[in-house]
Amino acid sequence: MKIVVLKFGGTSVGTIKKIKKVADIIADYKKKKYKVIVVSSAMSGVTNELIKKSFEISDNFSYSEYDVLVSSGEQVACSLIAGRLIHKGYKSRSWLSWQVPILTVGVHKNSRINQINRSKILKYLNNGGIPIITGFQGINNENRITTIGRGGSDASAILIAKFFKAERCIIYTDVEGVFTTDPNKLKKAKKIKEISYEEMLEMASLGAKVMQPVSIQDARLNRINIEVRSSFIKKSGTLITKRSNIINNRIVTGISCTQNDSKVSLIGVKDKPGVAAAIFKPLSKNLINVDMVVQNISANGKETDLTFTIKTEDLNKTKKIIQQNKNLNYRNLIFEKNVSKISVIGVGMITTPGVTFRMFQTLANKGINIKVISTSEIKISVLIDKKNTQKALIALHKEFKLDQKK
Ligand code: ADP
Ligand code: ASP
Ligand code: MG
Repeated sequence: MKIVVLKFGGTSVGTIKKIKKVADIIADYKKKKYKVIVVSSAMSGVTNELIKKSFEISDNFSYSEYDVLVSSGEQVACSLIAGRLIHKGYKSRSWLSWQVPILTVGVHKNSRINQINRSKILKYLNNGGIPIITGFQGINNENRITTIGRGGSDASAILIAKFFKAERCIIYTDVEGVFTTDPNKLKKAKKIKEISYEEMLEMASLGAKVMQPVSIQDARLNRINIEVRSSFIKKSGTLITKRSNIINNRIVTGISCTQNDSKVSLIGVKDKPGVAAAIFKPLSKNLINVDMVVQNISANGKETDLTFTIKTEDLNKTKKIIQQNKNLNYRNLIFEKNVSKISVIGVGMITTPGVTFRMFQTLANKGINIKVISTSEIKISVLIDKKNTQKALIALHKEFKLDQKK
């Protein structure tokens, strides 16, 4: 009998009615004679509420207690799913990560799963049970509860699929699959039938919330095919798979946008070795993620300007760190809050010249100014005023023919 892993996101278990629907989906797989392992996230909004509470208790809430607190939402959802399956006459029970156990390494709030004990779950499956396992959480070698980063139950599901050698890993969510861009932001977005790990990883890292980036890395390393589909509508979804499995002639596969970025510019810093390191070392020590970085070519060989972007939530901390950094000399420090990064992604870019030009020309035609540019082999990202994001998205989606039916 084949094993299937079904993961339900918060949006799929957001209400009692939705949980009943989820139980029906699970039952369908059981009827098809699969051994079913279910992974669930917390009911939508619950994790955010718990995080809010931690801030209200302390602005320096202990990371280990954060993990105990925010992982609790998954427990509720799993017991409700199991309860509904039992109500329907199935053998089912919830499994918290420590009961499996799912072992993690790394720091609290951002651990990684490195081992899953199979024996208890396999025995339960062999006895006809349907285990409902909490996503997002694990335990470390000190037996403390850990969590694996926001959106982490995607990674839980993928690693469970790996350790149990599942035939299929299906991510159930509130949209029909992965779209050319967020379908909740652009009505013309089209569902993508198949997408490579590399493209999905870029899309997710650059703002497509539908899959957590770490989970795509895990899937790619372990060659696990992922199906993303809707919990609410019975339609085929998107297959995330290796590049060689995909035949198409797309140049651009999708467009992602970020929200809540900020730009920091240091004007007139000394143009000499060690200056960039002096700026970024204390930021990295404080776990501030620096994203796009540009440094101008120095006009006089003495001074230059350096610009980088961070998440707006880190802006105050960044300001403080730079202003208090005695090793830095600059003429002016500029912060800009309302910026947004828009990226076009596609493996087709590797072999097709002119994508950069088309992107810049499209934005220029709309009178949109580009502030910072960064590129990789399969993506081009630009930083623009946040107020222009939707306009840019519509124009680029059209330019790269993503509006057209596949
Ligand atoms: P879940 O609760 O199932 O984990 P998420 O909210 O994490 O669901 O992810 C689903 C959401 O991702 C969708 O509602 C959609 O708004 C958003 N999204 C962003 N970009 C994309 C994209 N390219 N394709 C599909 N959905 C996207
Ligand atoms: N409930 C967790 C979160 O909101 C994990 C997840 O949704 O995957 O981040
Ligand atoms: Mg999610």
